[in-house]
Amino acid sequence: MEPFKLLIGGALADGDAAMEVINPATEQPVATCPRASKSQLDQAVAAARAAFPAWSKTSVETRREALAAMADQIEANVGELARLLTLEQGKPLQDATAEVYGAAAFFRYFSSADLPETRVQEGNGSRVEIRRRPLGVVGAIVPWNFPLILMAFKVPAALLAGNTLVLKPAATTPLATLRFGELVKDLVPAGVLNVIADANDLGGELTKHPDVAKISFTGSTATGRKVMAGAADALKRITLELGGNDAAIVLGDVDPKETAPKIFNAAFYNAGQVCIAAKRIYVHDSIYDAMCAELASLAEAAVVGDGLEQGTQIGPLQNKAQFEKVLDYIEDGRKNGQIIAGGERAGDRGYFIRPTIVRDIKDGSRLVDEEQFGPVLPVIRFNDAEAALARANASDYGLGGSIWSSDIERAHGLAEQMESGTVWINKHADLAPHIPFAGAKSSGISAELGEEGLAEFTQIQVINIAQ
Ligand code: NAD
Repeated sequence: MEPFKLLIGGALADGDAAMEVINPATEQPVATCPRASKSQLDQAVAAARAAFPAWSKTSVETRREALAAMADQIEANVGELARLLTLEQGKPLQDATAEVYGAAAFFRYFSSADLPETRVQEGNGSRVEIRRRPLGVVGAIVPWNFPLILMAFKVPAALLAGNTLVLKPAATTPLATLRFGELVKDLVPAGVLNVIADANDLGGELTKHPDVAKISFTGSTATGRKVMAGAADALKRITLELGGNDAAIVLGDVDPKETAPKIFNAAFYNAGQVCIAAKRIYVHDSIYDAMCAELASLAEAAVVGDGLEQGTQIGPLQNKAQFEKVLDYIEDGRKNGQIIAGGERAGDRGYFIRPTIVRDIKDGSRLVDEEQFGPVLPVIRFNDAEAALARANASDYGLGGSIWSSDIERAHGLAEQMESGTVWINKHADLAPHIPFAGAKSSGISAELGEEGLAEFTQIQVINIAQ
């Protein structure tokens, strides 16, 4: 494997220190990775700051061309990037490949997006225009579950708006992101995009850095609070995409055989390590037993293994801490419910856990009330849909949620009452670059993607002209 490098001021650089990246399927090192020092972080911010005046004055067309070229470059290197993702993150190669194509598609979307400029008044003595100005240096901080696609929620929108960037992946999944930096480094002027890697110690420094104008953060709610506090002194702009505990409410009028595979996929994709995974399933009493049986048989049949092996559906948990946390949630499920599939680690090497279904469990247990972020799913019985909805809403989280019914009007009525940023009907976890994504309550602040997400990388400017 070619050595990995930081990207600072247009040049590839070794880290002031180094660290090992572990393959969660084997618990063996994948590669040595450069680790940036605080002084290298300062250099990256200084480079982004120096590049900002010229980049912010380029035409939108120039920036669009750069984003399209980045999309091409990602697509031209799908094989290598996907393999790196599987090696460091653990996900099956076909899912890693889909993630890389997805990242390219997000760059492609923003390569033809418009920065909205509108005229809100013309006449009565005034012409009033609303323009969008770039902010300056953006710090983009990404977690370990989808390193490339979540990077692509931020980087193209920030660049299109005329900002420059310092991008920081998670400590356990830096490799594909560093390779991305290397692949696109000549597609923008030096300093416009900088990529550093850390050992989970530079996120706070980036957040507090006086020359950073905005932090676009995806990660846990606990860290999101620290980001908000760190940004407060300078009143920095922040976007926070945080944790979730999405409820799926399954009414009695669906066919369990048809619905169970869709819910299973929504819960166990990426080994359940998805912010918008279906994390607690409320099922109507009339189909409860049938739905539990279907979910259990899907769990029993699922192929758990190394993401590089053909046929693997569910890879390992991404890191040891998360692996241990999920085993703990399984014990909570054993205590407060009945495990009908899985319930244990798979093998004795790698962070593998069999997909686990827990039935006859209630709200009030940790597995239902907290974010498990792993392959263990509580299935809760209900008789009254409104009461189930109230239980779904009784959470600090409000990222996504779903209603499953053959009566779309009824489902729509329930969806309107769900306290979450997105509600899906008869599906779950469907995102696209033109659809804004925003968490309610403790799941986030402001939006990414779509026009709303793009606007978050800008400062509104009103020009009000006497006529
Ligand atoms: P995390 O909060 O531990 O880490 C996320 C990133 O923040 C990493 O890059 C980390 O190095 C950095 N970081 C650590 N300390 C920091 C600090 N003090 N200031 C700034 N940055 C800091 O999250 P994680 O465990 O990597 O990811 C899992 C969590 O992310 C889950 O809760 C999941 O739901 C959430 N998530 C949310 C979304 C979303 O879009 N809402 C998407 C994916 C994951």
